[in-house]
Amino acid sequence: MDFRYTTEQTLFRQAIREWLTKNLEPRARQIDEDENGIPDDITQGMAELGIFGVTVPEEYGGCAVPGEELIYGMIAVQEIARADLSMSTPVYSLLTIGWSYIVNKFGSQQLKDEVLPAAAAGKAFVGINTTEPGGGSDLAKIKTRAERKGDVYILNGEKAYVSGPKECAKLGAPSGHCSLVVTDPSLGHKGLTFLWIPAHLPGITWTTYEDMGRMGLSTGGWIYKDVEVPAYCLLGEEGKGFYNVMFGFNAARVLVAAACLGGAEKAIEIAAEYGTQRQAFGKPLIKNEGISFDLVNDWMQLDMLKLNLLRGAWMIGYEGENPGTFSRKDINVVISTCKCLSPTLGHEAARHGMMVHGAFGFTKETPLEMLLRGVMSYEVGAEGGLHVMRGIIARDLWGPAANPFIS
Ligand SMILES: Cc1cc2nc3c(=O)[nH]c(=O)nc-3n(C[C@H](O)[C@H](O)[C@H](O)COP(=O)(O)OP(=O)(O)OC[C@H]3O[C@@H](n4cnc5c(N)ncnc54)[C@H](O)[C@@H]3O)c2cc1C
Repeated sequence: MDFRYTTEQTLFRQAIREWLTKNLEPRARQIDEDENGIPDDITQGMAELGIFGVTVPEEYGGCAVPGEELIYGMIAVQEIARADLSMSTPVYSLLTIGWSYIVNKFGSQQLKDEVLPAAAAGKAFVGINTTEPGGGSDLAKIKTRAERKGDVYILNGEKAYVSGPKECAKLGAPSGHCSLVVTDPSLGHKGLTFLWIPAHLPGITWTTYEDMGRMGLSTGGWIYKDVEVPAYCLLGEEGKGFYNVMFGFNAARVLVAAACLGGAEKAIEIAAEYGTQRQAFGKPLIKNEGISFDLVNDWMQLDMLKLNLLRGAWMIGYEGENPGTFSRKDINVVISTCKCLSPTLGHEAARHGMMVHGAFGFTKETPLEMLLRGVMSYEVGAEGGLHVMRGIIARDLWGPAANPFIS
């Protein structure tokens, strides 16, 4: 057993930290406040470092190491989050990295040829599209309908609270979303299908919401009216959408947790540095246990979660290369634990950091308030609410009697 990153992983981490600290960190506030979102030179620079290619095989222009895709993804997203505490650039990146992994796993040759080279080059946004106005946790009840007619699916319905509509419009084709749709309403969750919906097809309209945080990345809703989605956009098999989307969520949740942990790590560093310099009652603030112990509590959780997250990322990759090693439940409980605890840690680390800064912490002079607003998205629901994670863990540890998702 070896708990260290490999030499290649270490070099990747060092190279991107250096670039992100120099190029992204000074612009995080601007990204949070400028309505144009993440500047093109930032996404292009990240693409050149191979960040968007970590889950894309070489034949499509990426640099994926088989079995280590999510470990590299996790490293990248942690580093991006350290540099942009608003969570805009980390979430933008984790969506494209995570859902490209799924396009590669479940997509047809034609779809992969179309989407993956552009995603790896930072020229396309790749997102996830499951939530509907009627709810996001209970996915078996979604209504957006896709009917197969010859070479196309005719799509009608509505999706809500989805990340990236503005970014899709800005980048153009082949941007789009891995989407959950109903192909057979009589079969419940077995009638759901995973389908790539290119964002620019005729019959699609979109809106955006006004969020409280993560301002550099849009969220919005889609309306589909008789949209013709080519049949080659099918992800996996018809009727297997529920299972495939759950596989995708595990991969995405590794990266979500990585974003929250990267932010928490940076917040603890900022707080400790300020607490060391700032004096009160003749000594540095950090000498008071009332202050240092809050930071220590956050650091202890961070250290354990980073290790557990690495285990989760490794398990998915190892299972992909050595099928049958782990059950879906084994993987679910590790990753749901990380997705459940990491956003709360990010929130607490931001709050404690703000407390250490006193009145200064209530201003925009520190990036900590951006983190507080940004990680809140992952507490209220994005990529699965915290109680939904607890429900998955209860179900997979203790079986149907503890399953809150069935009556
Ligand atoms: C910033 C942001 C970005 C997002 N981006 C995307 C995206 O790109 N694509 C996408 O498809 N969706 C996206 N979402 C939506 C997200 O997936 C949903 O918010 C989430 O699935 C929860 O759905 P809901 O908001 O409809 O809440 P509901 O399903 O109505 O649930 C409301 C609350 O009840 C809790 N809850 C639900 N069931 C249980 C239970 N059994 N026991 C206890 N508590 C429960 C939930 O955790 C939640 O806190 C995003 C959300 C946010 C905030």
